[in-house]
Amino acid sequence: MDLGLHGKVAIVAGASRGLGKATALALAREGARVAICAREQDRLDSASNEIARIAGAEVLAVPCDVTSEVDVTGLIQVVLERWARINILVNNAGGPPAGLFDELTMTQWRSALELNLLSTVRLCRGVVPHMRHQQWGRIVNITSVSARQPVPGLMLSNAGRAGVLGFAKTLSNELAVDHITVNSVCPGYTRTDRLAELAQATAERESMDEDAVFRAWKEAIPMKRLGEPDELAALITFLCSIQAGYITGCAIPVDGGLIQSTF
Ligand code: NAD
Repeated sequence: MDLGLHGKVAIVAGASRGLGKATALALAREGARVAICAREQDRLDSASNEIARIAGAEVLAVPCDVTSEVDVTGLIQVVLERWARINILVNNAGGPPAGLFDELTMTQWRSALELNLLSTVRLCRGVVPHMRHQQWGRIVNITSVSARQPVPGLMLSNAGRAGVLGFAKTLSNELAVDHITVNSVCPGYTRTDRLAELAQATAERESMDEDAVFRAWKEAIPMKRLGEPDELAALITFLCSIQAGYITGCAIPVDGGLIQSTF
């Protein structure tokens, strides 16, 4: 199937590693021109070189903290200067820390909402005028299963990501007449560096070994295995395709069956 992505211009945020990087690679493999961002130049450059080498594609690496208005404005400007348009936006960043209600400070709440909710709003505010002008666009938000089924102990993620789904659904209604779709994907436990770090932290906190942490996670998943970044990237790539033009306002899990709701 030709996904119609050849020559399309995509911004993938939080793409120096993990799910963002896998998504940038998948889009580049389909012929998209991809701008990736993250905060650290070194990691970003190495991701960009890797994607360009594997996909034989044009990749632009732009250092950008998605919580900064100035950085996001700069990112959009650099992409427009290089390619004169933006067709696709994939919103992504790191995850907030774990924590119970009694433990979390207002500073942590503000940082978490900046990182996951307001960064999404900020990037959308930057690209939507250009997509409207083109009368075409694809926006995909990488959230989490926690957006649809709260995970105990992940108060900040549960609240902030549910906010992203509410924002995305509302935005999808407002942009539908402009042929711009807005969807979210909800990864479950997926094999990335972040998950390994999370396993290590959990093991230390619970005084157990890391293998036992992974075993417990897998046990809770109907498919009894972790997801792979490529599996999430494949769905995002399809949602960005011309074929996905009638899919908007959805929040789709890629979680091996973990979420227990039927809709
Ligand atoms: P990761 O930590 O491996 O990668 C996050 C990427 O975002 C990195 O490139 C990092 O440099 C970048 N980033 C972080 N903060 C940023 C900022 N302020 N500005 C710009 N870039 C920033 O995480 P991942 O495992 O790839 O997950 C991506 C997202 O999906 C996270 O929000 C994570 O919480 C969520 N998620 C992951 C899983 C999983 O199992 N891996 C499951 C559910 C949800």
